[in-house]
Amino acid sequence: MKKTGIFFTYFQGERLKDFPEALGGLLGKGNVYYYDAVYGSRDGLFYLDPVGEPLLLKVHSKNMIESVKRTGDYESALYCAGGTVQAAEEIHRGNIDNAFVFTAFGDHHAGRDFYHGMCYFNGAALAIAMLKEKGTKRFAIVDTDSHHGDGTRDIFRRDADVLHVCFCDQDYSDRYNKIDVRILNPATDEECLSKMKQAFILRVEAFKPEYIFWEYGYDATKAEYGDRGVSRDLHIKLAELIKTVADEVCQGRLIAILCGGSGRDTATYTIPRIISVFAELNNRFRLA
Ligand SMILES: [Zn+2]
Ligand SMILES: [Zn+2]
Repeated sequence: MKKTGIFFTYFQGERLKDFPEALGGLLGKGNVYYYDAVYGSRDGLFYLDPVGEPLLLKVHSKNMIESVKRTGDYESALYCAGGTVQAAEEIHRGNIDNAFVFTAFGDHHAGRDFYHGMCYFNGAALAIAMLKEKGTKRFAIVDTDSHHGDGTRDIFRRDADVLHVCFCDQDYSDRYNKIDVRILNPATDEECLSKMKQAFILRVEAFKPEYIFWEYGYDATKAEYGDRGVSRDLHIKLAELIKTVADEVCQGRLIAILCGGSGRDTATYTIPRIISVFAELNNRFRLA
């Protein structure tokens, strides 16, 4: 069974109101580890640290960091990105195999010198900067948020060691392993699953990254603000595909980062099920 870390930060907003309670029985499982920035953790052994400024400066410009400080969300943003960095550290140390990171402020619209869409710092990019210092070389990022991951693309534009596959509104590919895959609107679950297999799974098998990061946005779900008509169960099936390929190519090293999506019900439905997939728990949280 895989050891799964849950990195939890909750500061405000509607979508995570049911958590951590909605994690239910998952927190009692012997292979699930809970790291938390807000509440006392299960046995007091694990805490979540904010990301430090020296690491921030390896990814983001001084100007951009100063500008985030003026938003009033700086501290929360440090904890959100810190969850991803710490998840990568724990996997690197061998304490866990994979992780799900809750965020209040996402990730993929934070570039080197800009941010928008409530994405202040790029947690995946910060974790990759940290792992590179420890000698890790190859990474894959898959982005299933409804929108283009412009921040992540900006940071790794010329870095061919980072495969970035983004499902959005355009088709694109270049020699630096940067790929966009157009998803129709409306789309079907079948189309998305087939594009995930073609554009990411096959590619990642050849690319052989040492870590996989998944920007998990659920805003393409029916009735969400990035609605493409897909079902909430699509996300669980995507989790199964991505987890399986991570097990195949990089000893299961996989970090999911919560990205876009605003509905409380979809967060409460999908996140415990995705974590169950990661932790290989066949329980009531799987597909209904
Ligand atoms: Zn894209
Ligand atoms: Zn989005």
